[in-house]
Amino acid sequence: MAKKWIYKTPGIPDDLFNQSDEVPGPTKEEIRVVTISKARLREGDVVIDVGCGTGGLTVEAALQVAPKGKVYAIDEDEAAIELTKSNVGKFGVEGNVVVASGEAPAALQSLPKADAVMIGGGGVALREILRASNDKLKANGRIVINAILLETATTAIAELKALNFKDIDVAVISVAKGKQINSGTMMMARNPITIVSATKP
Ligand code: SAH
Repeated sequence: MAKKWIYKTPGIPDDLFNQSDEVPGPTKEEIRVVTISKARLREGDVVIDVGCGTGGLTVEAALQVAPKGKVYAIDEDEAAIELTKSNVGKFGVEGNVVVASGEAPAALQSLPKADAVMIGGGGVALREILRASNDKLKANGRIVINAILLETATTAIAELKALNFKDIDVAVISVAKGKQINSGTMMMARNPITIVSATKP
């Protein structure tokens, strides 16, 4: 099978992923690029993707850590698990991904220590998920939270401070994409996403 994404750089176009109306994601292309960059992934790393949804970030992370690294993708929704598996297969990273059904933070318990944790879902349990992620991270490990809600971002910042994380970075990414109309290229705004990232002490 021809490789679906032959580049080292992240930024797989959204429409290359299998998608479903019932499952959120993939995280939009440009947001995935910054998220993966903030996670500072290297070949061989172990990554946990909390709330893998469509598998957009899972696949991008797997391509970065391959051939030896592993991404543990968890989601509480069975449809998300199936969709992530289909995208993992589509991009040929089966050897680098373990997809597991379960609700965070409990589902994190059985996972190995990680170099990076990406959190794209968590809802009301965010504080507990951040504490469980802290327990799973190796020293100097990276945490990245993608927040649609301001409250998610502010809770993440407060909790990362309480856990003594270093170099807390907050970046709001606002993307507008050009749409071709008869008279030219019209820029269409997308939701701003707040990316909170930090290093475990
Ligand atoms: N980053 C993904 C999209 C994530 S959507 C992509 O690129 O495709 C957020 C996902 O988080 C949803 O599928 C939702 O089911 C999941 N989720 C939310 N709270 C969760 C929790 N506490 N435990 C596990 N999964 C959770």
